[in-house]
Amino acid sequence: MTTQTVEKPERKEGMYEVVMDQFARAADIMNLDPGVRKILAKTNTEIVVHFPVRLDNGKIEVFTGYRVQHNNALGPYKGGLRYHETVDIDAARALAIWMTWKSSLAGLPYGGAKGGIQLNPKEYSKGELERITRRFTYALGDNIGPDLDIPAPDVNTNAQIMAWIADTFSSTKSPATRFANLHVVTGKPMGAGGLAGRDRATGFGVVANLKSWSVRSKQPLKGMRFIVQGFGNVGYWTSHFLLKEGATLIGVQDATATIHDPNGIDPEALLKHSDANGRNIKGFTGAKEIEPSEFFGLECDIVVPAALGNQITGENAGNIKAKVVAEGANGPTNTAGELILRNNRVDIIPDILCNSGGVIGSYYEWLQNKRSEIWKIEEVLEMIHDKIDTAFAQVVATSGEFNVDWRTSAYIVALRRLENTYMERGIFP
Ligand code: GLU
Repeated sequence: MTTQTVEKPERKEGMYEVVMDQFARAADIMNLDPGVRKILAKTNTEIVVHFPVRLDNGKIEVFTGYRVQHNNALGPYKGGLRYHETVDIDAARALAIWMTWKSSLAGLPYGGAKGGIQLNPKEYSKGELERITRRFTYALGDNIGPDLDIPAPDVNTNAQIMAWIADTFSSTKSPATRFANLHVVTGKPMGAGGLAGRDRATGFGVVANLKSWSVRSKQPLKGMRFIVQGFGNVGYWTSHFLLKEGATLIGVQDATATIHDPNGIDPEALLKHSDANGRNIKGFTGAKEIEPSEFFGLECDIVVPAALGNQITGENAGNIKAKVVAEGANGPTNTAGELILRNNRVDIIPDILCNSGGVIGSYYEWLQNKRSEIWKIEEVLEMIHDKIDTAFAQVVATSGEFNVDWRTSAYIVALRRLENTYMERGIFP
């Protein structure tokens, strides 16, 4: 019966299955040590908290928050907190695992974690979001900490939310240690210990990757057309920096609308509109609204998924006409979508490389706080660029060594570093 199909849609491949598929492929090809493979196939710690918050209408609501800590062989757990209805234990696991690979590939002294709260932040007032955030931080307690597990922004979380976390965490410690706890989160506002440039770090990094891709594939970015899915922090800043390279934004999609203009969309005007409209692009007059299903098939050179996971799938990957997919989001391409892109010779700059500018920026914020220093934005962006160039070159070299795609070679670089660490250090006891 059709009604039954509607009520119980076939389960889509979840992000957790995607990350495990990717891991298995790379581990097989590189012949990863079987013991290390067993360790990395599991998450170290999974925290689920339920906590009450009084809403503006006086009623109490109980929220569910998650923090999954995948692995800390290379350093403290690191990764964002996401406020979204799709946050559940599987999503947190998958995203935590991607953080381990990302930190390892970027050469950072970090492990991987991820978490968040299952909610739609648009349904809550600023005051409610502050109380939810503070109570979540309190519920996490000493499971996070500047040398243990360091959250950061992710989908629907921002510098303001990080400031509330830092303040709540520090306020529950002795006043004498307040500034020793500042770096319990990164992505803070500048006045609260934040780093100049952390706001734009992910988008800047996506474009740094595209610059490397452009040099290696001998196709200048100047004159290229690109589309962006998601117009949050990553979507906006990627557009901003790609325009500086002479490329043109011709399509944008978010949860509320899909817009297109082959002559170019002004990201600054779109940002203004979106800020004034609850961070939605719907109603923007500078482009034509089209059907969401037309988005990935738009005539362009670069596709930047910068929203949620599992967006490029077996159903739509075949429509993509672009030369390259630059994964600003985590896990935007599922296994079936990936196979189609590879068969169609569409390059993929994999998420763990492409969006690593964010966590690299976080690393410099953490260092800046640890050293009580304040750095200039130019220095910060240069350091981020440098780390991305190094990782990109390693990914390309390893892809030649094993004759594999860039995602698999990015995994091999990340897994080799983890494998070496385990080999050198051994396992307690
Ligand atoms: N949420 C970002 C990511 O997925 C940043 C994580 C961080 O800075 O710790 O990479």
